[in-house]
Amino acid sequence: MFFQKRILNINKEVGKMKILIRERISCWYELSFRKEKPAIILRIHRDFIANTEPIRQIAPIVKGFMKHFGFKRFNGSLAGNFGFDDSFVFNGIKGDFAEFAVNIPEVRKHTSKKCEYCNGSGRDRLLRDECFRCDGTGKEWFYDWKSVYAISASFTTIFHRMHFPDKETSSFSPQLMIVSTVTQNDMHGGSLGGQYSIELCDWMRSLYLRNNDRYEITEMVEAMKVAHRKMSGPFRFGQEHYIRARIENSNSWLNIDCPGDACGLHPGDGFGPQEGQGYEFACHNVDNPIQQITLLVGLAALHDKARREMKT
Ligand SMILES: [Zn+2]
Ligand SMILES: [Zn+2]
Repeated sequence: MFFQKRILNINKEVGKMKILIRERISCWYELSFRKEKPAIILRIHRDFIANTEPIRQIAPIVKGFMKHFGFKRFNGSLAGNFGFDDSFVFNGIKGDFAEFAVNIPEVRKHTSKKCEYCNGSGRDRLLRDECFRCDGTGKEWFYDWKSVYAISASFTTIFHRMHFPDKETSSFSPQLMIVSTVTQNDMHGGSLGGQYSIELCDWMRSLYLRNNDRYEITEMVEAMKVAHRKMSGPFRFGQEHYIRARIENSNSWLNIDCPGDACGLHPGDGFGPQEGQGYEFACHNVDNPIQQITLLVGLAALHDKARREMKT
């Protein structure tokens, strides 16, 4: 008896809630990429902000990240800098959207210490090439993960809050995708996934059909290269060739690849995307936040191209 009642209530809830891969929903947030001073730009519609409470310091997700990563502070209001250690810089209100810049950090940093392999010369004498260990700079380097974890944790927190709007916004543009991320410092610790909307998939399909073949989205590839280089330094071992973004078929099947162990984003459903619908995407082997942020930058560049070229 009790059980039946619960099921009925759940059905009522689902009936009210729209599903992005099946229905057009007005935009409540979008991503963009800034190439000069590389940054992911996050825009959140003011109607969404008006209907949402600031995220509290005592929220379990916030407390967990603060404790695990030792961040200095968390701002949960969308009226100023947001997130862990001021990762999201408030750029003000632009039209109907509050805008935040998430600057891509340098993760692989050089120190003032001499490179031990080349003794500071920057040259590899045996290979007659630049030193592979220091990229020819003659200095030792190290990975400083703190700021990129703060960025990832801030995205994970805000994406969780923005998963669905309580009330649809007044925006004339459709929501193009929803994204969710996780932030952990272990294997697969940078996982991300989400949904592409019907409108986005229709447009991707048109790119494939116009080309009459697999379509490489060069804007995504270029943006991902800029971001990866900013975080990880000059490409080594041909890494740049592992950065790809391709619409593989007329059902808008999008594969995005990132340097790593077969790291990337692809449709999540085994049957693949269906014509006239959106679809869920999932990741494979996204082990660290450099890969996660690189893939997010790809999605941001996809947003930019879609908004430019779509009619809405
Ligand atoms: Zn060296
Ligand atoms: Zn795996």
